Amino acid sequence: MAQEIKVPDIGDFDEVEVIEVLVAAGDDVEEEQALITLESDKATLEVPSSAAGKITELKVKEGDKVSEGDVIALLEAADSQGDDNSGEEDKQDKADEKKADSGDKKKASDSAKSDEKKSSSSKKTEKEGKSSEKSKSDSGAKKDHSYDCDVLVLGSGPGGYTAAFRAADMGLNVTLVERHSVLGGVCLNIGCIPSKALLHSAKVIEDAADMANHGVSFGKPKIELPKLMEFKQSVIDKLTGGLKSMASKRKVNVVTGTGTFKDDHTLSIEGDSHNNGDTSEISFNNCIIAVGSEPVILPDWPEDERIWDSEAALSPDEIPKSLLVIGGGIIGLELANVYAAHGTDVDIVEMTETLIPGADRDLVKPLQKRMSSRCGNIWTGTKVTGIKASKKSLKASFEGKDAPKSKDYDRVLAAIGRKPNGKKIGAENVGVKVDDRGFVTIDKQCRTSVDNIFAIGDVSGEPQLAHRATHQGKVAAECCAGEKAAFDAKVIPSVVYTDPEVAWTGVTETQAKEDGIEYEKGAFPWAASGRALGMGNAEGTTKILFDKDSGIAIGAGAVGPGAGELIAELGLAIEMGCDAHDIGLTVHPHPTLSETVGMAAEAAAGTLTDLYIPKKK
Ligand code: FAD
Repeated sequence: MAQEIKVPDIGDFDEVEVIEVLVAAGDDVEEEQALITLESDKATLEVPSSAAGKITELKVKEGDKVSEGDVIALLEAADSQGDDNSGEEDKQDKADEKKADSGDKKKASDSAKSDEKKSSSSKKTEKEGKSSEKSKSDSGAKKDHSYDCDVLVLGSGPGGYTAAFRAADMGLNVTLVERHSVLGGVCLNIGCIPSKALLHSAKVIEDAADMANHGVSFGKPKIELPKLMEFKQSVIDKLTGGLKSMASKRKVNVVTGTGTFKDDHTLSIEGDSHNNGDTSEISFNNCIIAVGSEPVILPDWPEDERIWDSEAALSPDEIPKSLLVIGGGIIGLELANVYAAHGTDVDIVEMTETLIPGADRDLVKPLQKRMSSRCGNIWTGTKVTGIKASKKSLKASFEGKDAPKSKDYDRVLAAIGRKPNGKKIGAENVGVKVDDRGFVTIDKQCRTSVDNIFAIGDVSGEPQLAHRATHQGKVAAECCAGEKAAFDAKVIPSVVYTDPEVAWTGVTETQAKEDGIEYEKGAFPWAASGRALGMGNAEGTTKILFDKDSGIAIGAGAVGPGAGELIAELGLAIEMGCDAHDIGLTVHPHPTLSETVGMAAEAAAGTLTDLYIPKKK
């Protein structure tokens, strides 16, 4: 006789979505084997089978909403063939009781939902229940290594979620603590992704205007800011929703709350979503710090909501008539590009003598030229000495060779750098070394000065880029799993996603000259690229530097539309120790901008036929 498997007591939840069905009709299942996964807005949990046997019918599918007592499957119990129904019901009731009981017990413990979520086997539930109780009362958990989780990841940006997912994929029991209710960190919510969504709109506007030179004219663009913001948000929502679902599929225990270290095996969590928003503690065997960075705002500036940081600039209430961008680095220039294209009168002020100080001048020049034509003024070697807020405007005063003494703006964007959050989590108190700027000191394994604590991403050093964070995340997770992993990337690419894009990786020419590194350069001007000319974009360049002795590629750069895509191949070439022939003999498709990579290499190898380069005497 088939027995009904019902949704047990799942706390205060009703109408909870089935996000995954883990078995099919006809499957043999073990007692306590997970059958379906449910997800509420606060937690995910698996519903286990109350007995071993064969699933004869499934009563739910993904997307269905279920509540306590709903039948999810019919099961023919392995050891009860011939038993009467009352016996089965008895068993089911007992199972429900057991579940409800354990639910009650867990509600009292700090990591209630985490235990339920992970209860795919009774053994595991018991162990976790024990360890969560332990964490509450006894931080001596260190002694028997019975912790709430194998790995606790603090912060869910690109570094944190990658580390959490990799650790879970390697079979570790992972808790991911994030102070915001949405996963993804700066990159997905207020950084890389929204800025690129807006830069795309900027590029289309400018490309459409440029088409007049090709004999195709469009009207003046009509910008509907709410719709543009809606689109940007939809991109963010797709990605962050994807993270939530992947975390749940991997059984990563996601806790919303702000974490600080209590000791080297315990994190205190303020506003813990699993503990009704109260403060709780979670013990861990290993911890990966991935708390990122935040924008620098000068303290003597007035508090005024018209003074933006990058987050505010990505969610404007209106498109301002005028904007001063303070900082000519990557973030400043990208946002200046966005606003200028959408009709704002933009000035840029940069304290050093050049825009994008880390990149070679020949790569920056075409961008600077283009920025000069789309912006009002670009003042380099100039300081903002103060900002005065009045009802009408923000008056910025300057000190520099070309800038006026002062000028009024509707908005001011501070893009003067980001400071790491290393000093905000009590890490120093448990022996983790944090430098004066707030960077957590790490070794090649991303391990801090405390053996079982790792740090990755923006909080662990420069460059503060998402792809550095993700790669470090994998290394740290693998080290937690006992693997011999190290972050030993030869190069980390940088890209400025303006129009034109500027991208570079490895040794720059400026750096080579400063450090006395002898190199050969192969360069290909896009003026000789049929594809670039056809796109009306001949100002780009691709260049590759080769070590003079070994002939091996050590650095590369490009400027022009899509330069950020081209740099990936050059990164691979450097990692693989390619020389000019390796790259030049790789057949690149024609006509593409990627050909400029092959041709830059041919220029260094002396085999280029698409340009006339007089032979060296
Ligand atoms: P973050 O993404 O900063 O995430 C850290 C997370 O930790 C946050 O979610 C935070 O809420 C959480 N947290 C902090 N403290 C606590 C705590 N005590 N308890 C719980 N949670 C906590 N990089 C690129 O590579 N490409 C780009 O195109 C690019 N564009 C950018 C554009 C802008 C406008 C900005 C601002 C940045 C951009 N970056 C870009 C940089 C990129 O966003 C960062 O390098 C990246 O997000 C760093 O990842 P992370 O995991 O170290 O930390």
